[in-house]
Amino acid sequence: SALYRIDGWGAPYFRVNSSGDIAVRPHGAATLPHQEIDLMKVVKKASASKSSGGLGLRLPLLVRLPDVLKHRLESLHAAFDFAIQSVGYGGRYHGVYPVKCNQDRYIVEDIVEFGAPFHYGLEAGSKAELLLAMSCLTRGSPDALLVCNGYKDEEYIALALIARSMNLNTVIVLEQEEELDTVVETSRRLGIRPVIGLRAKLRTKHSGHFGSTSGEKGKFGLTTMQTLSVVQKLQRLEMLDCLQLLHFHIGSQIPSTSLLAEGVVEAAQIYCELSRLGASMRVIDIGGGLGIDYDGSHSGDSDMSVNYGLEEYACTVVRTVMLACDRKNVNHPIICSESGRALVSHHSVLIFEAVSSDSIKADASPFASPNLSFLADELADDARAGYNSLMAAAFRRDYESSAIYAEQLKRTCVEHFKDGIIGLEHLAAVDGLCDIVTKKLGVADQVKTYHVNLSIFNSIPDLWSIGQVFPIVPIHHLDQRPGVKGVLSDLTCDSDGKVNQFIGGLTSLPLHEFGGGGGGGYYLGMFLGGAYQEALGGLHNLFGGPSVVRVAQSDGPYCFAVTLAVPGSSCAQVLQAMRHEPEVMFEALKHRAAECGVGGADAIMRAFHSMPYLICRTGGGVGGGDAIGSDSDG
Ligand code: PLP
Repeated sequence: SALYRIDGWGAPYFRVNSSGDIAVRPHGAATLPHQEIDLMKVVKKASASKSSGGLGLRLPLLVRLPDVLKHRLESLHAAFDFAIQSVGYGGRYHGVYPVKCNQDRYIVEDIVEFGAPFHYGLEAGSKAELLLAMSCLTRGSPDALLVCNGYKDEEYIALALIARSMNLNTVIVLEQEEELDTVVETSRRLGIRPVIGLRAKLRTKHSGHFGSTSGEKGKFGLTTMQTLSVVQKLQRLEMLDCLQLLHFHIGSQIPSTSLLAEGVVEAAQIYCELSRLGASMRVIDIGGGLGIDYDGSHSGDSDMSVNYGLEEYACTVVRTVMLACDRKNVNHPIICSESGRALVSHHSVLIFEAVSSDSIKADASPFASPNLSFLADELADDARAGYNSLMAAAFRRDYESSAIYAEQLKRTCVEHFKDGIIGLEHLAAVDGLCDIVTKKLGVADQVKTYHVNLSIFNSIPDLWSIGQVFPIVPIHHLDQRPGVKGVLSDLTCDSDGKVNQFIGGLTSLPLHEFGGGGGGGYYLGMFLGGAYQEALGGLHNLFGGPSVVRVAQSDGPYCFAVTLAVPGSSCAQVLQAMRHEPEVMFEALKHRAAECGVGGADAIMRAFHSMPYLICRTGGGVGGGDAIGSDSDG
């Protein structure tokens, strides 16, 4: 577990159990031993055939953990509650979930349901998200905020005003000064008085990757001059009482509480000033930014880590707002945060299988490559001299020289191959010899490539787009020391479809020897990917989404219940997403097969219905074993 820093990034939700598997602790530190969910058992249940009691799903598999989501939400609320109580703050905390982080229906519905006791609301950034948020919040608390961010046209604003008249606690946040005119005109036309928020463009700048939209030159929000102009306009229109919320967002993954405090104090001053100028200010919305310790280092010195927890975050916000307001004699506002990453990241785990690995035959005789010794005579003089030097250095166990000679020999032979002097067999023999020599002498740090049944573009898009690293760990065999180092290569034919950056700055991952686990597959999990990855994933190479199971802790005979199982996208579905017509395609292919007298129609039809991913052994149950039961009565 130390090797993969599981205690650093995984606590209190993930740990290695006595079987050497990763177990989920659905209720965090309060989880009892019998409530822990072994991820390997979930994989077995999901992937075993229906006839053996499984769900017949194919990997990759996204395991959603609603209990973890609930625990995150309650922990965030408890952190703010504690901070409010301990300093005697006069306002409350009303969080909102920014649905853009993961718009999955069950996640949003869960958040509204789990958050109802403490008026948890939603944030929308587009018309579609607003429709989603409106319909979910009809089942939420009437006090829950519905924050409307993003660029808005007249339709968006009309929808937000209608939401207000439906007794949803809707606030239209101005991202641009011009939006005010549309808000005023539309509210007059519909006869609905708006509640307005204003997004401030703070001077405080978050210097990490996620802070590129912050600071004076940031993309969003109103400058000081624009803020004043909005206030004056609202005053002229006798609508200053409509301005009730101040919003800012200095970027995701705020690395430290000192930067957080800097942003909050600047915003709190603006809040107090708006109050002084006559607005009916009620809410300070501190945006997102509550970070995740992806690499478990707790250092805050990169985008991958933060040096604070929920409690320190909440305490910093509450104290800073309180101090600023007390100094200006302004009532303590409701504090709203739009935490997305911190809320949903932990609750899903993507599980995928290694299907093969490239390997060098370790048991081959170290220095006698019969092929090459046989072919050596046919090499040109310079290459033969290089070969002899390499062999001599290898027999002397002169590591450094061996590595140099091996590189030189390879380079020379590649040139000779390009010039047509040597054949493919010579080149292959040279490659093989150099690999064996360097491996046996331990000269090269052998890194294997593990091919994994996954599309990085679909399932971990931030990995190739912004170089974000996520914890990736085998979910079993963790009671055995991994014997090799590996990088991961996905199924797409794209050179970016690989993982060679891992937490802790590693360029390879400690892995167990492929096929060394006594049969059965080799399963890896990608953790902390619950935010953004699903919403951003694309259809590169037409690999669709993974299969999904929703797994709840259960007190029945087994410790978990699968409450929802959705197969991954079929080939027909991903083709349809790109506007192809599978039925028409099938008819054309069937016709051609008949013309050619081949009977492939059934196989073609099956291919349309199958998942684009590889069919691995998981299709018939992990390692051919029986399904592990769970009370699937949910
Ligand atoms: N609010 C706004 C306006 C955002 O732009 C974002 C994301 O960048 C968020 C909230 C969510 O941020 P995070 O995921 O860091 O909590």
